Amino acid sequence: MNHPKEGFRTVRELRCADLISGCNFVARGKDDSEVMKKTAEHAKSAHKMAAISVEVEKKARAAIRDAGAFEPGGPSKA
Ligand SMILES: [Zn+2]
Repeated sequence: MNHPKEGFRTVRELRCADLISGCNFVARGKDDSEVMKKTAEHAKSAHKMAAISVEVEKKARAAIRDAGAFEPGGPSKA
């Protein structure tokens, strides 16, 4: 049985460049918590952050967006 619409899940993503310029890391997950978890791990290993501060977490959560609408040619804003 195929239910493409039911099966479709929007992927969430966070571009590290939105927080730290020059970093091309992109965290993707099925929801914000998964993205935050990956971002925290990346911040620890790549940016020597021992822990994510409340301020950084706020910024990170604000920067998380849907990755499902990604277009290779770039975002097409109306
Ligand atoms: Zn980074």
